[in-house]
Amino acid sequence: ILEVRDLRKNFGDEQVLRGIDTRVAEGEVVCVIGPSGSGKSTFLRCLNRLEVPTSGQVLLDGRDIGAANVDLPTIRQAIGMVFQHLFLFPNLTVAENIMLAPVELKRMTRDEARRTAEDLLVRVHLADKADHRPADLSGGQQQRVAIARALALEPQVMLFDEATSALDPAMAGEVLDTVKELAHQGMTMILVTHEMGFAREVSDRVLFLAGGVIVEEGTPAQVLERPVQARTRDFLSKVL
Ligand code: ATP
Ligand code: MG
Repeated sequence: ILEVRDLRKNFGDEQVLRGIDTRVAEGEVVCVIGPSGSGKSTFLRCLNRLEVPTSGQVLLDGRDIGAANVDLPTIRQAIGMVFQHLFLFPNLTVAENIMLAPVELKRMTRDEARRTAEDLLVRVHLADKADHRPADLSGGQQQRVAIARALALEPQVMLFDEATSALDPAMAGEVLDTVKELAHQGMTMILVTHEMGFAREVSDRVLFLAGGVIVEEGTPAQVLERPVQARTRDFLSKVL
């Protein structure tokens, strides 16, 4: 569903991504791990064009998302993203936050969007919070609203950048459970995470990124339990 070809990104003189090649199949869950500053966030941001790559290609269903005739809203609709820090609108209710993009993009009427929001809130176990303001919710609940909001656009792929790292363990657990449910429902996902236990449990494949390249990739058992590369072993010895 997603193919990345020789993706490179420089910030000034700094080569942050130095040629990333990978493919993600439909329904696959890929976790990206690696040291701070290794380019994980930059990689995800290039996948939905929040960053423009210096060179290389990202293909969604075979179409180059960097092509001149592809518009950004279409890409961001198809490749949804949930960040570490929440970007809910505080002055809108939970349901209104979820309805905003589908209505603005004219994909749904307000009534359809409201029904979709209610369905999604059931899915993330927040059915009773539709008419609350984000500030009335816990951090974990807010993050699940952010997930519901991304799902409202029916993305083909969901990207998560450390979606739980700003949360305390209990709330992080709720969000991780929601992500696991999405995985079981067949959602294609790429997750940057520092939760190795979660990566082991949920992912089909783990990518270890360091110095802007994929140093090692494979099943969670291969990469997390029997890493071949010294850099992977060194990293894991520090985080496990
Ligand atoms: P972390 O685990 O701390 O989130 P990361 O692997 O996500 O790290 P990135 O955020 O992708 O790392 O950053 C990789 C490098 O790119 C860093 O050296 C960072 O300073 C640099 N960088 C990222 N975004 C920009 C930017 N907009 N302008 C300049 N440099 C940037
Ligand atoms: Mg990051």
